[in-house]
Amino acid sequence: MVAVGPDDTAEKAQWLEALGNAIDSNSFCLGAEVDRFESACKERLGVAHAFGVSSGTDGLKVALSAVGVTSGDEVIVPAYSFFSTASVIVQLGAVPIFCDLDPETLCIDPVAAETLISSRTRAILPVHLYGQTADMDALLKISQKQQIPIVEDAAQAFGVFQGGRPAGAIGDVGAFSFYPTKNLGALGDAGAVVTDDLSLIEKVRSLREYGWTERYVSDIPGINSRMDPLQAAILRIKLTSLDAENKQRRTHADRYRKMFYKESVEIPYVQPGVQHVYHQYVIRTPKRDELHKYLLDRGIGTGIHYPVPVHKQPAYRGRVGAAGNLIHTEAVANSILSLPMYPELSSIEIDRVIDNIINSPYL
Ligand SMILES: *Cc1c(COP(=O)(O)O)cnc(C)c1O
Repeated sequence: MVAVGPDDTAEKAQWLEALGNAIDSNSFCLGAEVDRFESACKERLGVAHAFGVSSGTDGLKVALSAVGVTSGDEVIVPAYSFFSTASVIVQLGAVPIFCDLDPETLCIDPVAAETLISSRTRAILPVHLYGQTADMDALLKISQKQQIPIVEDAAQAFGVFQGGRPAGAIGDVGAFSFYPTKNLGALGDAGAVVTDDLSLIEKVRSLREYGWTERYVSDIPGINSRMDPLQAAILRIKLTSLDAENKQRRTHADRYRKMFYKESVEIPYVQPGVQHVYHQYVIRTPKRDELHKYLLDRGIGTGIHYPVPVHKQPAYRGRVGAAGNLIHTEAVANSILSLPMYPELSSIEIDRVIDNIINSPYL
């Protein structure tokens, strides 16, 4: 249901032209197209530095390495997120310490996070789930008090601002994903790392490309995570319509909210001062599985992001550090349902979803 390709032939023509220009530029790893996208990104977000990388997952790995996360370190991370948030920690030889979520924001609970800090904690990794930021004010206070860097997983929150500060660069460094289904999506894999911290930029730059400080000189063991210029060319065009699209998503969310007002549907909580971009529109309901199936039978596709929390995935059994109580995480995993949400959605379609939910026997 999610439209990833061009909406119309005019848009497709624009993309093909951009790809043609990128091909003519004759540089296929980083280069001018990526520079242009990085500048557009910096301008859009108001951040000092942006680096195009090959995916959100790689971006997280680069960001965590840049703040010094290495073998044996602990990283505090929400138990409720997309898989790669925790997998990159393990790939760096570090230990994910799974933290519960705040039942309102569905992002990491700062109070719980603070109780998990140990002498080995090297970073806190909040995830801005579904398109709004975690409670960054509270996390920044902890970070300053305990001298622990904050790396943001902003894969679902490009263009979200909290009190005027852009998701991704509120903490020390952050990563975005431009996977095709994200609000800003490429035509393949891509991501970015952003920071306002001067001391991190050379590390990020070098980690992204073999650990080079200059060509053929590696000071640190980096990876290859360069952004593909063809994706950069597409992303730069798509960035120009992102604000309008996010606005459409907010309009859709308003419609859902107004209609669910009197019903026993728990709708997304939006923190004051945060502009939610509704990467997902997630409701909570006790008879989730029944409702999910009921809607599917009526031709309405809904999603569960995510059915099994990370700490319960086979990959992490036995790797769970001194995890706290994950009671909210487990409750949320059983009750969330992502309703259709994309810019092109029409009010008629939204009303149909709402009617079917309200008239279902499962509220
Ligand atoms: C999509 C996503 C990622 C991974 O990004 P990729 O570009 O697919 O590697 C990481 N974290 C979260 C929260 C995501 O939604």
